Amino acid sequence: MRVSRYFLPTLKETPADAQIASHIFMLRAGMVRQSASGIYTWLPLGLRVLKKIEDIVREEQNKAGALEVLMPTIQSADLWKKSGRYDDYGKEMLRISDRKDAELLYGPTNEELITDIFSNEVKSYKDLPKNLYHIQWKFRDEIRPRFGVMRGREFLMKDAYSFDVSAEAGRDSYNAMFTAYLRTFARMGLKAMPMRADTGPIGGDLSHEFLVIAETGESEVFFHKGFEDLDPMVETHSAEERQSIVDTWTSMYAATDEIHNPETCDVADSDLIQGRGIEVGHIFFFGDKYSAPMGASVQGPDGKLVNVQMGSYGVGVSRLVGGIIESSHDENGIIWPESVAPFKIGLINLGGKNDDCVAFCDDLYAQLEAAGIEVLYDDTKNGAGAKFSQMDLIGLPWQIAVGPRGLKNGVVEVKNRKTGEKVEMTPQDALTKFS
Ligand code: ATP
Ligand code: MG
Ligand code: MG
Ligand code: MG
Repeated sequence: MRVSRYFLPTLKETPADAQIASHIFMLRAGMVRQSASGIYTWLPLGLRVLKKIEDIVREEQNKAGALEVLMPTIQSADLWKKSGRYDDYGKEMLRISDRKDAELLYGPTNEELITDIFSNEVKSYKDLPKNLYHIQWKFRDEIRPRFGVMRGREFLMKDAYSFDVSAEAGRDSYNAMFTAYLRTFARMGLKAMPMRADTGPIGGDLSHEFLVIAETGESEVFFHKGFEDLDPMVETHSAEERQSIVDTWTSMYAATDEIHNPETCDVADSDLIQGRGIEVGHIFFFGDKYSAPMGASVQGPDGKLVNVQMGSYGVGVSRLVGGIIESSHDENGIIWPESVAPFKIGLINLGGKNDDCVAFCDDLYAQLEAAGIEVLYDDTKNGAGAKFSQMDLIGLPWQIAVGPRGLKNGVVEVKNRKTGEKVEMTPQDALTKFS
């Protein structure tokens, strides 16, 4: 992509309404713009990151055996009246009526709808287990939308729903999501810690929140320092393996302030870390809380009808964009982990008016593109300083700077955005390095 053809409205100044790094940098890097309180337009650069995060979430869900569907954003109020949550949900739910006065709502979550879909189609235990998920926009009329996409009103969530014939089988579905979440967040360069959590309006008694440690997190968290040593890139092939990994990760103390109790916490002070965290995922096992009132039952092995055992599993896809920036930035801007970076390389032409330099950059750009590498090529006539600071701001993992002086010596300068390290090499070596 050439910067001259891109839509990249970067800002030099910190916008007045932004307080935390991720919000400031997402606005300054031209990733999003607010269109109404807590409601955002994703501009090209931001959308590329959102899609990369979505892809990682999708790959890990599919790998864990979940099946992708796409439910609508608008739901009928009838289903929520059946489950009893229509009144309970309160003002966070955006209620709408259509021209025929039918009561609708913009979905804040999908337990009711998926339970309805499931119960209309699945009648026998032989069709279980099933786990269905989608990645869809949600709306919650938050009292205080803030921190940009971190607490929006409209936000992108991955939500999965598992259906099993027994509580034991349901537990394995829960464990499969638990282990998938460990991998999902690790692949985005995040250390997300599973913590025992309150189940809130979703209900049930088994639940973990996944939190990324960051000073700007909204939850206070307490955890054993031993978490640092666990490897989240787990591979599992059986229910026993999954249970054993979940046991390992849950044997160590970790709790949010809602659950933490200094009286009962048995971790030595020297081992207990206190900090703040951003909730990026939340998983629940709630048995028949929805299947019973909504009549979602299947025929069991003995021919009797049983209510299915359900769990639900959310990932805050759009919140993760902010969460990743919170844990990876410096004073100059964002530092994207390669797995979610909008482009891998920023190619900077420092000799804007020098024909040789332009020709050389055009050629290098074409070769990088041909090698399948995602490159953002600053081919504009802006000054060198402005180009470097814009590249630092948008945080691509690598920068290749080409100037007339280097060209004379046959070298380009390759900079690692994270370490700041700069190395001169031939264009050929640069191509090999990134191919
Ligand atoms: P929070 O405690 O932050 O309000 P929640 O517990 O209400 O979140 P869940 O119902 O558990 O949220 O939804 C699943 C995931 O969706 C959360 O873990 C979070 O990552 C994301 N999420 C929830 N609310 C928002 C929001 N207003 N903006 C962006 N992401 C959100
Ligand atoms: Mg909430
Ligand atoms: Mg919460
Ligand atoms: Mg939650």
